Amino acid sequence: MSRIIAIANQKGGVGKTTTCVNLAAALSSMRKRVLLVDLDPQGNATMGCGIDKHELERSVLDVLVDGMSIRNARLRSPGNGHDVVGSNADLTAAEVELMDGEAEGRERRLRNALHAESETYDYVLIDCPPSLNILTLNAFVAADSVLVPIQCEYYALEGLSALLDTIEGVQESVNAELEVEGLLRTMHDGRSRLGIEVSEYLFENFGDQVFSTIVPRNVRLAEAPSHGMSIVQYDRASRGALAYLALAGEITRADLQRRRESAGAVTTEGADAAEGTAAVSIAEPRADESTVDIAASGINR
Ligand code: ATP
Ligand code: MG
Repeated sequence: MSRIIAIANQKGGVGKTTTCVNLAAALSSMRKRVLLVDLDPQGNATMGCGIDKHELERSVLDVLVDGMSIRNARLRSPGNGHDVVGSNADLTAAEVELMDGEAEGRERRLRNALHAESETYDYVLIDCPPSLNILTLNAFVAADSVLVPIQCEYYALEGLSALLDTIEGVQESVNAELEVEGLLRTMHDGRSRLGIEVSEYLFENFGDQVFSTIVPRNVRLAEAPSHGMSIVQYDRASRGALAYLALAGEITRADLQRRRESAGAVTTEGADAAEGTAAVSIAEPRADESTVDIAASGINR
């Protein structure tokens, strides 16, 4: 079964696309089967995966409007080793069409398409546009969880409660299973007092829903998309790459723990020698991993 993660924050420029592209590449480098769905008419994730959004012959628009299967709509990211359902400005037309009250099951189109491929991928990452519109709603209805990137700066928390309210509304209506995968601190500057304050606030209010991994402000992360590469390809030793690899580790460990719990198989530490690292994380709550992950991402809090 795939784990479907929507990457969303209606606030613009907080690192949604950067997270989607680089987390997809990091998971893929860990031999996970990954599909990235670009649900933003800006098409930045598509470009970031090395696919020219102006040359798309099929895209997420075909899935949402014409019911095209993921199998037929997907492309391969050259170099990143994962599949992509791309997007470009044409998706704005889908937004208008899906807004039409007559469109039957309009908020379930993506869910239906992804469920048909639930055995094909380990992870599906959906890059959402910077608004809480019908496209984002499609993502929330399709998803198991929402990952919320939060830029560690002054207005960072603006809109967060609206986003959490929307998630709650979706839980109460169309997708009771929807979870918060985690809040991810992005573009963090270890020297900035503000970054530290935002971190403290998040931990106080959201506790272990905050990822231990911190994504630093790192120029290599900003450069990589102009080469159509993920940070894992572009500069695997950079602090940005290490952070996204650490995030991929956090997500896969949490996923494994959840699967074991739901299978009723959580027993004792070291229960499964073949899954050594996972056994350790089962014994330790997420908050305790911070030393490991922060060290890996090269950040001093
Ligand atoms: P939008 O809301 O427009 O979709 P977004 O939330 O997807 O934006 P990104 O496009 O990922 O945000 O990032 C905004 C800008 O910040 C981009 O130019 C990106 O390269 C840069 N950026 C993102 N994360 C980092 C980082 N950790 N360090 C340095 N630059 C970053
Ligand atoms: Mg974006």
